[in-house]
Amino acid sequence: MTQGNDHHVNRRILLLGGTAEARQLASRLVAQGHRVTSSLAGRTATPLLPEGEVRIGGFGGPDGLARWIVAHRIDLVIDATHPYAAKISANAVAACAATRARLIRIERPVWEPPEGAGWTEVADMGAAARAFPGGARVLLTIGRQELEAFHHRTDCSFLARVIDPPSDAPQGWLILAARGPFALEDEMALMRAHPITHLVSKNSGGEQTHAKIEAAAQLGIDVVMVTRPRLPPAETVRSADEVLGRLAEA
Ligand code: NAP
Repeated sequence: MTQGNDHHVNRRILLLGGTAEARQLASRLVAQGHRVTSSLAGRTATPLLPEGEVRIGGFGGPDGLARWIVAHRIDLVIDATHPYAAKISANAVAACAATRARLIRIERPVWEPPEGAGWTEVADMGAAARAFPGGARVLLTIGRQELEAFHHRTDCSFLARVIDPPSDAPQGWLILAARGPFALEDEMALMRAHPITHLVSKNSGGEQTHAKIEAAAQLGIDVVMVTRPRLPPAETVRSADEVLGRLAEA
């Protein structure tokens, strides 16, 4: 099947999403005439829904994902999940190997430390929770699921920015429910208002949430950066643009 008079082949695409970049890519693929199903894990209460078809919830491990790929005759899986969603990315590699569907992963380039920034790289959340001194006023921008790693630091104060509030934040923690993108001046105002001494972040890459890194650098706030999990090898590109480039080539 071809679209109009160009060379695009219409594909049946499973787009593993849950990121702004995935949502934008869904619109562009739909506009090109591809049959796109975006998949969301169902972590947020009111997700922003992409164009095209959407399914929500886990597949049931790599085998469940493989069954879904076969049942829906998917010929291309695009992994546009967040770089810290390591399980689903590994499942995608296994399921695509088993079903021989093509897999393209988007891996956004990592953020580099700005000039002069205080920047400590740590391997995981446990190490992040040990990376600041007693009395620190810490802004956590790591999502909701791993906040527990910081609960024992009763010697510090915490502001946790999340999309949906956690059910069990310790007493005294401030919870700020907000969804990016965030502007530099707003990030600086937030950090000044509290006043933050340490920022804990994942190295998400991309533009959506980069302003906090710049704001921290400008205000002399130390950044505790949790490094990315390692993923099994796959055909990898750096952006949605590059995905479209690969599809135009094939
Ligand atoms: P994860 O640890 O890699 O995945 C845990 C399980 O959740 C997977 O085994 C899978 O269940 C299910 N799952 C994850 N992503 C899915 C998707 N897009 N569609 C269907 N099922 C999915 O994932 P996570 O870190 O919890 O992230 C969940 C979602 O939030 C992802 O879509 C990710 O893009 C988004 N997100 C994550 C972060 C983060 O920091 N981790 C930040 C922003 C957005 P089954 O094994 O049952 O299939």
